[in-house]
Amino acid sequence: MMTHEENNEYRVMLEEEARRVLEEEFHQHVPPSVPVSYFLSYKTEGRLASLREALDRIEAGTFGYCLLCRCKIAEKFLRKNPTTRLCLYCALGREWGSEKDLDVLWKMINSYTGPDSTE
Ligand SMILES: [Zn+2]
Repeated sequence: MMTHEENNEYRVMLEEEARRVLEEEFHQHVPPSVPVSYFLSYKTEGRLASLREALDRIEAGTFGYCLLCRCKIAEKFLRKNPTTRLCLYCALGREWGSEKDLDVLWKMINSYTGPDSTE
């Protein structure tokens, strides 16, 4: 299991990004007093859907674990993109033998749906 502290840390990362995307891309003002999840419930597309799904997985206790094999996803991937849903093994396995380059693979690992976030 992820620790309580880890879950809280990722929740903050996800909510901060969701707030930024809502304000910058959807021009949706999110008052500090309102939980960002309230606004996410209306969003079903793209990056916001990924963020909402990741927040849901924190609530469900499945955050940080591969959707396919349920092993723990490497922390460096989660820190790069907390909406990562697959471990490296499963992400590689799905494309094994293809001509995909590492950049494409990286995007797939992260279920990439929007502009890269700053590191
Ligand atoms: Zn896996």
